[in-house]
Amino acid sequence: MLTIGIDVGGTSVRAGVVDADGAVLDTTRTATPGDERALEEAIGGAVHELAERHEVAAVGLAVAGFVASDRRTVMFAPHLAWRHAPVAERISERVGMPVVLEHDANAAALAEHRFGAARGAGVAVLVAVGTGIGGALLIDGEVFRGAHGVAPELGHLRLVPDGRPCPCGKSGCWERYCSGTALSSTAVELLAKHPGVSTVLAREARGDARAITGRRVAGAARDGDPLAQRAVADLARWLGEGLALVADVYDPEVVVVGGGVSESATLFLDDAREHYASVVTGAGHRPLARIRTAQLGDDAGLVGVATLARDLAVGATQSPGGRLG
Ligand SMILES: [Zn+2]
Repeated sequence: MLTIGIDVGGTSVRAGVVDADGAVLDTTRTATPGDERALEEAIGGAVHELAERHEVAAVGLAVAGFVASDRRTVMFAPHLAWRHAPVAERISERVGMPVVLEHDANAAALAEHRFGAARGAGVAVLVAVGTGIGGALLIDGEVFRGAHGVAPELGHLRLVPDGRPCPCGKSGCWERYCSGTALSSTAVELLAKHPGVSTVLAREARGDARAITGRRVAGAARDGDPLAQRAVADLARWLGEGLALVADVYDPEVVVVGGGVSESATLFLDDAREHYASVVTGAGHRPLARIRTAQLGDDAGLVGVATLARDLAVGATQSPGGRLG
């Protein structure tokens, strides 16, 4: 049975046909429209395009936002138009197939548990480090959502009292120190603190400080730029610091570090592991979580939600009162 997984992000809608082994057979992508109706049309269009080329049974949407625990309603998504919208029902009517929703980090965690870095783990945490931090917790392969469907919000754990302001309204949140955005902020702060320093990054910043993106800092660190390397070392320390908190609360078997920043994991993951191991409660006297990089890359959300759609579609055909509509 083939299903379609769709990653509905703030910048693009990426859809793929996925088989039972988690392989992506075909994809299509479009820019994310700003209004609700156009967004649903774009999703419907992607499904129709792929369904013309493949026989598919169900659709899953991985959404960057809060999804109600029945997985049929998007409650709130900061970068998407939906507010308390019955998205599963609307898309299902449009495409004539069962539709299920899942938070994008949960979907990615499910994919890593089924096919990737967290395979077989009893307690697994996903930390997706990108523009911010997305988090997910799986217990025996099931998503833990908390009482209202919004747990775990790892990126906004406060690590630094009175620290960098965060768009969430708080300050000192973990993702302000450990993300692509943080890498850029730290590099810009270091440049301001050491105005005389002459490195590639410093020269580029004098042209236009906006050129100092997280990706650029990682690239410069890889090329040996000392200032960029300091910014990366700072990210490694904060990653380790946050992972220690996560381990104190959940005691996971595996932590999967994913998201765009994890593409540069060779620059910082060993240092982060070392810092985590030194600051976790009971350091030296407890088993440590294995900290691994994600294996499914960009496709994780799409593969995870397509797999969920398959599981529920199979369940629905086996029991007449199945949950999909
Ligand atoms: Zn925050």
